[in-house]
Amino acid sequence: MRRGLFGGSFDPPHVGHLMMAEVARESLGLETVDFIPAGIPPHKTGQRLQPATFRLRMLEQAVRDFPQFHVSTIELERAGVSYTVDTVRAMKAAAPRDDWFLIVGADMLLDLPRWKDADHLLALVTVAAAPRPGVDVRVAADNLMRTFHNAHVCALEMPELDVSSTWLRERMHRGLRVDPLLPTGVWDLIVAEGGYTA
Ligand code: ATP
Repeated sequence: MRRGLFGGSFDPPHVGHLMMAEVARESLGLETVDFIPAGIPPHKTGQRLQPATFRLRMLEQAVRDFPQFHVSTIELERAGVSYTVDTVRAMKAAAPRDDWFLIVGADMLLDLPRWKDADHLLALVTVAAAPRPGVDVRVAADNLMRTFHNAHVCALEMPELDVSSTWLRERMHRGLRVDPLLPTGVWDLIVAEGGYTA
């Protein structure tokens, strides 16, 4: 079975996340995509996130209309910083015969060489990267494959979508609407819970 893994802080999940996962699913023939909210993201250890339970509920709402999309709590249950390699090792151990695809944004291709056990991680998965403004996804993919000879990296065919959780959070903190860029039902949940108020 071909399966996708998609990690992030999802604070909040937005249409960019859903669209890149859907393009990965259809173009790579993935039977499932697991969205994995990070407990403590390695590159955001100093940042205050919305509580894990709330990010989880937003994500579960976001994927509700997509039957192949699931949410995994594996990184929320594990203590300490959420390293992708630990997650992939655990998922692979549970389903050793499956082929795993790691879905990331192009910005993460630049970070990846510094991730924990990057060479081992890249031997375990094929990386599927979505284009993102400011990064040439094909150049970044080629560089990664030159640095790590065992890496397989492909670029997803889709336009750059210039949306980030950071920008959405900043707008919400100023009391501005962001619902056009949120998956169905996520805005209602944020309003009901009073999330992202300053
Ligand atoms: P933040 O602004 O808080 O850093 P984000 O919008 O980058 O958040 P994350 O939850 O950190 O969202 O991202 C999870 C994954 O999705 C990362 O691999 C990131 O590169 C990717 N991603 C998020 N938004 C986009 C986008 N608009 N285009 C391509 N990739 C994206």
